[in-house]
Amino acid sequence: MAGIGIVGAGIAGLHLGLLLRRHDVPVTIYSDRDAEQIGSGRMLNSVAHHHATIEREQALGVDHWPDEEYHYFGHHHYLGGGPQPLVFPGFFTAPSRAIDYRIYLPALLADFVSRGGEFEVRPVQAADVSTLSERHELVVIASGRGNMSAIFPRRADKSPYDTPQRKLCVGLYEGVAPSDPRGVTMSVAAGQGELLEIPIYSSAGHVTALLFENVPGGELEMLAEISYDDDPVGFEKTILDMTRKYHPATFERIDPAAFHLTGPLDLLQGGVLPSVREDYARLPNGRYVVALGDAHVVVDPVIGQGANCASYSAWELGHAIVEDPAFDERFCQKVADRRRNRVHATADWTNLMISAPPPPHLLRMFGAMAQNQAVADEFTENFSYPDRQWDHLATADRVASYLARHGMA
Ligand SMILES: Cc1cc2nc3c(=O)[nH]c(=O)nc-3n(C[C@H](O)[C@H](O)[C@H](O)COP(=O)(O)OP(=O)(O)OC[C@H]3O[C@@H](n4cnc5c(N)ncnc54)[C@H](O)[C@@H]3O)c2cc1C
Repeated sequence: MAGIGIVGAGIAGLHLGLLLRRHDVPVTIYSDRDAEQIGSGRMLNSVAHHHATIEREQALGVDHWPDEEYHYFGHHHYLGGGPQPLVFPGFFTAPSRAIDYRIYLPALLADFVSRGGEFEVRPVQAADVSTLSERHELVVIASGRGNMSAIFPRRADKSPYDTPQRKLCVGLYEGVAPSDPRGVTMSVAAGQGELLEIPIYSSAGHVTALLFENVPGGELEMLAEISYDDDPVGFEKTILDMTRKYHPATFERIDPAAFHLTGPLDLLQGGVLPSVREDYARLPNGRYVVALGDAHVVVDPVIGQGANCASYSAWELGHAIVEDPAFDERFCQKVADRRRNRVHATADWTNLMISAPPPPHLLRMFGAMAQNQAVADEFTENFSYPDRQWDHLATADRVASYLARHGMA
């Protein structure tokens, strides 16, 4: 049998493939798109990697962007809607970075192939999985949030929403001066949604991703629908007008004369349905397949966790494969156990952040962050550790107990 088969060449499939190659495990990645198609296509997302993920990249030998020019150091919060906005920063213990995935994924795919990984370009259908499972010792489905994930039933107990909770409009722009110190600005317009302003490296150089997370039914929802191609000038004017009105902390650093989208493909509009799926499935032939990345858990991008979670999950699965290559149900259960805490915490925390209206204990945490730098820094650092974040945020009692430990009764 030909080692491990992975369907999907996103971060989930590549981090798993690269880890397995480091242990000389034979791996084939199947993808419906090659590196050229990924690199020349539409913007995929605006992913930021936090330092726990960057540490895995270092261990995998794929830390291609180590210089400070790619780094950012924390979050600048602007919480509007009250009589006075809450404005405060929070800092990481080690930097994060955002590299356009049209650069990142082809680079890692080249690493994978140069290290002896097999790469086959072909769209895999659900009906093909049984055949693949007979070719490989284990098949991992890392094909993102498309149709293939339906192999794994959606878990109603962990998936509280039936529709996307935000209408997204993310693009790459010139003309936005970076925040100081360089960071992601997280601007909240009460009742309307959020704007994530992210320093990102793309083929246009160091630019800014503006990710509008718009509440359905709000005034900004239409940003997810208006057409850039039909009217580029009108599109950019609308983005500027909405930023001025709802996200002033970012608007004040925009030079309207220089502001423009970096290219027609540097824009993505739509929405994602948060879903937690079963960890694995048994095929009719008795073999097991494991879900990884977005095929397993999809979270709204509002706190930038999906890819970081996919990398973490790949790491746990990869080590389980190396330690105990007996791919039966017990193996699948062990994988589920070892990744459950962080993966479910990622989904639970993200779902809390998009709940409408936000619950009082979340608002209490934000209020405390505005008053206490240590609390703001710990919240920010925990973007690398969603399980620790959830220890603080899971209930009103946990928030109270955490804040009491910081002397904030
Ligand atoms: C706007 C936006 C911003 C985001 N920001 C962040 C962020 O800041 N931080 C963060 O951690 N996450 C973020 N995310 C989430 C992140 O993009 C995803 O969680 C992550 O990319 C999922 O990786 P994956 O490898 O599981 O899936 P994908 O990246 O979707 O990769 C799946 C791969 O499988 C291939 N494929 C699909 N179907 C088939 C098939 N049938 N046969 C063969 N191949 C197939 C695809 O071509 C692709 O290569 C963001 C998402 C969005 C939309």
